[in-house]
Amino acid sequence: MMMKLILLGPPGAGKGTQAEFVVGKHKIPQISTGDLLRAAVKNGTELGKQAKTFMDAGKLVPDQVVIGLISERLDQPDCQRGYILDGFPRTVAQAEALETLLQGKGQALDHVVSIEVPDADLMGRLTGRFTCRKCNAMYHKLFSPPKQEGVCDKCGGELYQRDDDKETTIRSRLDVYHKQTSPLIAFYRERGRLRQVDGTGSIEQIAGRIDALLKI
Ligand code: ADP
Ligand code: ADP
Ligand code: ZN
Repeated sequence: MMMKLILLGPPGAGKGTQAEFVVGKHKIPQISTGDLLRAAVKNGTELGKQAKTFMDAGKLVPDQVVIGLISERLDQPDCQRGYILDGFPRTVAQAEALETLLQGKGQALDHVVSIEVPDADLMGRLTGRFTCRKCNAMYHKLFSPPKQEGVCDKCGGELYQRDDDKETTIRSRLDVYHKQTSPLIAFYRERGRLRQVDGTGSIEQIAGRIDALLKI
């Protein structure tokens, strides 16, 4: 079945973690603008160099840059059966650009799943986060540890802590979320697409809640 989904939520809400479950079940690609930008930084491209300054400061990369990345990505053949957008859109301007892009393709979004977690939980989730260098799988030193320290369970890749997962940068990212991204909750509610999910509890519990939602 064709499914186009947005995972919305503050940094640390569990978008990447939950996207893995949806990918496994529905066999559609996860598209994370954060992953696309980190790949550009790693490859040292011009776009990557520009983006890094914003990312290190915990600010958003300019809209036209991420809209360009997404527009190219959605044209790839693996997106024909649907996709999960993780971390995009993050501003009203991005959401409007996405509506225009989809209209141009004669497509519409199926669901916007907003994962809701109180700010008080997010700092601990982000300061303990470890990510796989190879496959981008997510771990947590306390809440979701790998079987062997520093090694990805899924692919054997090396786990690392992101540069922007330190306390001062996290504070700035949470602030940016409340100012620039949280208005998207009203944006999608008005369009009848919003599905709110309690993002507290175990990773499996939340996966179950999202799964139930996607059947509606
Ligand atoms: P996001 O993509 O929304 O920024 P992640 O999926 O990377 O969030 O999750 C942030 C961190 O919190 C990761 O270290 C992840 O292992 C951990 N995490 C995810 N879901 C939960 C949960 N339900 N309870 C505790 N920790 C979680
Ligand atoms: P998290 O879910 O932990 O906030 P992401 O990996 O989604 O992290 O994003 C990391 C950084 O990449 C953001 O802080 C921002 O600088 C940049 N970024 C990612 N997606 C977007 C976007 N849609 N618009 C602007 N900047 C973005
Ligand atoms: Zn891995």
